Amino acid sequence: MNFINIIENYCTTNKIAHMYKNSTLTYRELKTKSDSLAINIIDLFGKDKTPIIVFGHKDHLMLISFLACVKSGHPYIPVDISTPITRLKDILIISGAKLIINTSNELFDIPADIILNKSDLKTRLLQAKDKKPNISYRLKGEDVYYIIYTSGSTGKPKGVQITKNCIQSFIDWSITLINKTDKIFMNQAPFSFDLSVMDTYLSLVSGSILYSIDKDMIANLPELFMNFKSSGITTWVSTPSFAEMSLQSEQFNEKLLPELNEMLFCGETLSKECVKKLFERFPKIKLINFYGPTETTVAVTAVEIKKEMLLSKETLPVGYVKKDCEIIIEENTNEILIVGDSVSIGYFADPVLTEKFFFNTEIFGVKRRGYRTGDTGYIINGLLYYEGRIDNQIKLHGYRVEIEDIENNIRKLSFIKNAVVVPIIERGTIKYLATAIVLNDKFEGNIILAVKNFLRNLLPSYMIPRKIKVISVLPMNANGKIDRKKILEEF
Ligand code: AMP
Repeated sequence: MNFINIIENYCTTNKIAHMYKNSTLTYRELKTKSDSLAINIIDLFGKDKTPIIVFGHKDHLMLISFLACVKSGHPYIPVDISTPITRLKDILIISGAKLIINTSNELFDIPADIILNKSDLKTRLLQAKDKKPNISYRLKGEDVYYIIYTSGSTGKPKGVQITKNCIQSFIDWSITLINKTDKIFMNQAPFSFDLSVMDTYLSLVSGSILYSIDKDMIANLPELFMNFKSSGITTWVSTPSFAEMSLQSEQFNEKLLPELNEMLFCGETLSKECVKKLFERFPKIKLINFYGPTETTVAVTAVEIKKEMLLSKETLPVGYVKKDCEIIIEENTNEILIVGDSVSIGYFADPVLTEKFFFNTEIFGVKRRGYRTGDTGYIINGLLYYEGRIDNQIKLHGYRVEIEDIENNIRKLSFIKNAVVVPIIERGTIKYLATAIVLNDKFEGNIILAVKNFLRNLLPSYMIPRKIKVISVLPMNANGKIDRKKILEEF
C-alpha cells in the first residue's frame, strides 16, 4: 500500500509521531500543519516542481516540512545545520531550489528567491486551514521524492535523486525484517543522512514514535544517557560508530534502555568486537546489519547477526539482497553493482557523473537501473560480504567523505600548491584525517589555523583534517602517482 496513505491513516489520531526535547508532535498535528504549509507552497509556486531546501536539525518542523513538500509536489533537500553557509549556497545553486524552509533559529543572508524562517512558519503558515492541498499536486511514482547531497570528489556536493517508488520499495522490504511490537524508534542520524530515512519512515508507516536525539546530546554522553533513561526506545537505528561511542560507557546496557529489543545498523563495517559487546550488554537483543549506498535508497541487503557468526573466520556478512534488487560482483575488480527498483535515477543536473556511476540493463526482458557502488565484496551462499573500496571514499565516524572533496577545497587557498589528505587508522577504524600540504609561497603566520579556518567556511566540521603538516614535495610511487602510503608515514 502507498506509504503516504498509510501515514495519513494515523493522522486522524492523537498518537505521538515525533518526540524531541520533551516536546511532542501528534500524527494529527503532523497532518494539519503539513497540509497548511503545503497550501502555502502551492500558492507560491503552483505546478512548479523545483526542489525545496529544508534546513535545520531535529525540530518537529523538519518532518512537517518534508510532508508539506511531498503534498505540494516538490522534492525536498534536507540540509543539516552542521553544513556551512557556503556549502548551503552551493546546494542552492546546483539544485536550482527557489525556496529554503529554515527550521533553525539561525537567520542567514543567502540569495534564495524565498526563505521561510521559523518565525514565519510558526505565526502564519502552520495555522490549520479548512482547505486541504489538492491531491493532484502530491508526489507519486517516479517523481523525485527527496534529494540528498553527499560529498563529491570534485569539491562540490552531488545530489542523489530518490523517487517515491524507490522509498516505497525500501519500506515494503525493511518493514518485514523488524519486530511487530509497539515501537519507539531512535533517530540519531541527521535528516540529511539517508540512514534517517530508515528510522523516520519505518516509524511513520508503523504509527510509532520517532524519538530524536540531537548533536548536543551526542557530544555530551551523560546528558544523552539521561535522555535515554526516560525515552522508552525499543528500536535503535544508527551507524556502528555511534554504538561504539555509547559502548565506551559501562552504563550503556539493558538497565539504561530496558525496552530496547532491536538494533538496526547501516552505513559502515559492523565489527565482531562491537557485536560481542552489544550481546554482553543487551543479551536479548536482535541485531540487523543493513548495507547499501544512498544511491540505492538507504539499504538493499540485510541479515540478522547471530552469536554463531562471531565464530566464523569471515568478517560479519552485510546481508541477503532484497527481492526486487540484484547484486552483481564484477569479475576482476570484485566491485559490487546493484540493480533494481530502489536504484536512484541519478545525480541531480549532472549527466556526466550519472553516466559514470549509473547504467541501464535488461533482466528477463525487464529494463532495470543499475549503480556501480565502488565497494568490493563477495557472495557466499547468497550472503554478501563487504571488503572495501576501489577509490578514496571513506567513512569517518559514520559520515561518507570523498577525500578529493577536502583536497580540492584546500587547494583553493592561493598559498597552497598541493594537498593530500590521508585517513589515520587505529585498530582497523579510521580515527581522524591528516593532511600534507606543499606551499606555493612563503606563508607568514600560523598556517594550520589559516587552513582550518578557511575550511570551516566550506566543509562540515567532520571533514576538517585534525593534523596538518607542511612538506616540501609530495612523494611519488613507481607509477608516477602520489604515494599516499609514504605520506601516511609523516603522521
Ligand atoms: P552512504 O551513502 O552514506 O550510506 O554510504 C554508503 C557506503 O557506506 C557504502 O557504499 C559502503 O561503502 C558503506 N557501507 C554501508 N553499509 C555498510 C555495511 N553494512 N558494512 C560496511 N560498509 C557499509
